[in-house]
Amino acid sequence: MLPYGRQTIEDDDIAAVVEALRGDFLTTGPTVEAFETAFAATVGARHAVACANGTAALHLAMLALDVQPGEVVIAPSITFLATANCARYVGADVVFADVDPDTGLMTPQTLADALERVGERRLRAVLPVHLRGDAAELPALAELAASAGAVLVEDAPHALGTTMRFGNVAETVGDVRHSAMATFSFHPVKTIATGEGGMVTTNDPALAERLRVLRSHGMVRPAGCEPWWYEMPEPGFNYRLPDILCALGLSQLRKLPRFAERRRALAAAYREALAPLAPVVRPAVQPRWSDPVLHLMTVLIDFEAAGRTRLEVVEALKARGVGSQVHYIPVHRQPYYRELYGELDLPGAEAWYARCLSLPLYPGMADDDVSVVVDALKAALRS
Ligand SMILES: *Cc1c(COP(=O)(O)O)cnc(C)c1O
Repeated sequence: MLPYGRQTIEDDDIAAVVEALRGDFLTTGPTVEAFETAFAATVGARHAVACANGTAALHLAMLALDVQPGEVVIAPSITFLATANCARYVGADVVFADVDPDTGLMTPQTLADALERVGERRLRAVLPVHLRGDAAELPALAELAASAGAVLVEDAPHALGTTMRFGNVAETVGDVRHSAMATFSFHPVKTIATGEGGMVTTNDPALAERLRVLRSHGMVRPAGCEPWWYEMPEPGFNYRLPDILCALGLSQLRKLPRFAERRRALAAAYREALAPLAPVVRPAVQPRWSDPVLHLMTVLIDFEAAGRTRLEVVEALKARGVGSQVHYIPVHRQPYYRELYGELDLPGAEAWYARCLSLPLYPGMADDDVSVVVDALKAALRS
């Protein structure tokens, strides 16, 4: 079975974990800082703060910004649940932005529409998601957010390694030139894996310090105090990433160039192999400024024109050993959010959801696997 995504763990990754297990610290040791320093350098940010997972990263970002109950956070409806849920953890309200039906991304237009729905409430943050690995249009989104008195927090778990070009400036996702913070996840299907794991990057030393304090109970040790002394100005959480997993993360991060190259090559092979299936099947559209390391190989299928339902296609693929997944069910449709905010009309999100299907993409795929998948897809659409 080819899953839609999976980790690539090699002998040296295993050796790095074993070495950490033999060391003096299982958690909060020197490997945490080593992983953070290497990660910050990789994406071009001043600070990186490791934490328990990508959801904790989002929660910490909301806490670090001091987002308050009744304030508003804007998130796209096409994303993983956590992007919206982090606002609810701090009692803020979510205003769901629509997405472009062909890229799946929040756009300046869909953000402008969402801004109108904020009303008299105080908007604190806008959370663009680099869906699949393609970069959202950060400069324009940041300008709109700033004009409404808010900052961007990029939810970037899909886009580790993605570069982008706005005008003549080459940028890397995570370098946070347009945003206050960017969050990452090292869940096994993401570009590098630590099992559970997350990271927040920022260029603001005060935010970095707040993130560090909040991830470890809110404890601070004032300068010059007794060696046992600590104080808690406000309660935090235990959202630390242990040394063991930071050792794995550091080992995985060294492989990012190779993983990225492999993902790019597989995506190019997919585009070529899928071309004859247009216009019924098309890869999701890549914005012109984005040079992605794709996390997901999402195709958009006109199921009506194909005369097949998505369930039929998913099951036919599965029968041929090909896994697939839907990224994502619009979050505004979840029972919890329906109950809270009523029915919303987000036609871009609905159009994306109606057509999207993610095909297998991970560095361990063999060259032949792309044609295995595309042949299976052809057969599934024909059968
Ligand atoms: C994976 C993911 C998360 C959550 O990360 P976890 O490490 O699983 O908590 C949040 N947002 C997006 C867009 C993700 O893909």
